[in-house]
Amino acid sequence: VSDEASAAAEAVIGLARRASLRGWTPATSGNFSTRVDARRVAITASGGDKGALTASDVLIVDPAAPAHPRASAEAPLHYKIYLEREDVGAVAHVHTPAATVISTVKRAAGEVRLEGLELMKAFRGVTTHEATIAVPILDNDQDMAKLAARAVPLLKGASPGFLLAGHGLYAWGQDVSEVWRHLEAFDFLFDVALRLEALSR
Ligand SMILES: [Zn+2]
Repeated sequence: VSDEASAAAEAVIGLARRASLRGWTPATSGNFSTRVDARRVAITASGGDKGALTASDVLIVDPAAPAHPRASAEAPLHYKIYLEREDVGAVAHVHTPAATVISTVKRAAGEVRLEGLELMKAFRGVTTHEATIAVPILDNDQDMAKLAARAVPLLKGASPGFLLAGHGLYAWGQDVSEVWRHLEAFDFLFDVALRLEALSR
């Protein structure tokens, strides 16, 4: 394993551990990846307590030829994001309570609209709270290849992530620190949006 690959694996382990500490990867769920170079990504293997991963729990794969027996069922979504977006250097998938609740409540609308909130500026390219960001919601599906194909049109919008209804959040960034910032912002914004909606009833 090259130095680049082992550094990428360490970064993935660190990202997974931080998400686990927040309670965003219950019951071995969630998966995390980062780009090693133009042809390889480091990605968490299927299962495993995301707070206690070791180097053997991280796979180094070519996203264009990704067959690996220990890969997560959800890995194809990560690969699709890397293949569609050359600027993306890290991808995270988490099952946060706020993402799961809001993706269920807003499923019929097909999106969560975030408006007028200062923390939207945590998203790459957003410079003012006077923006509107539509976070897309995809219907959940156990066929990950189908799901990945449906996700493609959502990858070029202003939102650095999308929701799967009743399931969780996919987010990306140019590197591990940016995807972490995006995860924290999404979690805060979804929580605030749910509270505001509850108060407005
Ligand atoms: Zn999941």
